[in-house]
Amino acid sequence: MIQLYAPLNFLGVLYREIRQALTDMERMFRLLSEQREIDDAPGAPPLRLEGAPAVRFERVSFAYEPARPILHQVDFEMAPGTTTAVVGASGAGKSTLARLLFRFYEVGAGRIAIDGQDIRSVTQASLRAAIGIVPQDTVLFNDTIRYNIGYGRPGVGEDEIVAAAKAARLHDFVQALPRGYDTMVGERGLKLSGGEKQRVAIARALLKDPPILVLDEATSALDSRNEQAIQGALRVAAANRTTLVVAHRLSTIADAAQILVMADGRIVERGTHVQLLRAGGEYARLWALQQRDAEPGAQREAPAPA
Ligand code: ATP
Repeated sequence: MIQLYAPLNFLGVLYREIRQALTDMERMFRLLSEQREIDDAPGAPPLRLEGAPAVRFERVSFAYEPARPILHQVDFEMAPGTTTAVVGASGAGKSTLARLLFRFYEVGAGRIAIDGQDIRSVTQASLRAAIGIVPQDTVLFNDTIRYNIGYGRPGVGEDEIVAAAKAARLHDFVQALPRGYDTMVGERGLKLSGGEKQRVAIARALLKDPPILVLDEATSALDSRNEQAIQGALRVAAANRTTLVVAHRLSTIADAAQILVMADGRIVERGTHVQLLRAGGEYARLWALQQRDAEPGAQREAPAPA
């Protein structure tokens, strides 16, 4: 009897420990699912789009933390297939607009509508499938440049990769490398400059072919060749898409259909480059500053009034 007791006791302890572990796991999974920030509305349909849509921010207010409002009644419309640029000092709330459009966070008040559909009423999967994002800092995998461009589109053909790289003004750079598209990049491979990485992200976005494009321009300084390449790539990428550019260099966005100037979470000026220069306000001041700081010989021409 005593001989039997020890193993039975051991089994009892084991049973209790396993049960406890399962309970902990259950609690952990419940916690994880509770922490998912945003759920689809029950029975939410997918976003319905035919080509590039109209995007409206309607009196949008937002705070990451209740005590610190970030956006105040931001109201603007992006016409289908046009480019809207947002400029303003660091911390003004420019990137927050992009995060709200992607529904990383829920608006506090007001709404964001795409072709009249409130983004809260459609599935997040369909919303995110419709938006291509070119982030400030693109993460590259320790893999070939081909893989990095095609990432997100498994099985994509070589022709499509090369076409996207050409449109993103990346092809000539890649071809000049001894191993071309087989060149390893990332931490353990060839280090690409900020501008080159951003062009990889533009090529990725082009392969996705989304009707809405959000480009969060890299803050890092670019040499003028890289800057020209980005401008060219952006022009191709933005064609026939509804595009939001969070801009740090005003030269990138001088031909945008509309420029919004933000300060402390509010739109303080809006118009085209020419209109804003004529108005002689904050945008004109920023433009003059950037012109003064531009490299000698790289002075940018303002586009002629339409
Ligand atoms: P930059 O030009 O430097 O990229 P920005 O205009 O894009 O700046 P946002 O990134 O939109 O500015 O940030 C607006 C404000 O919100 C800033 O004061 C920032 O500190 C704050 N903020 C941004 N992200 C968070 C977050 N996850 N939690 C709390 N506050 C945040």
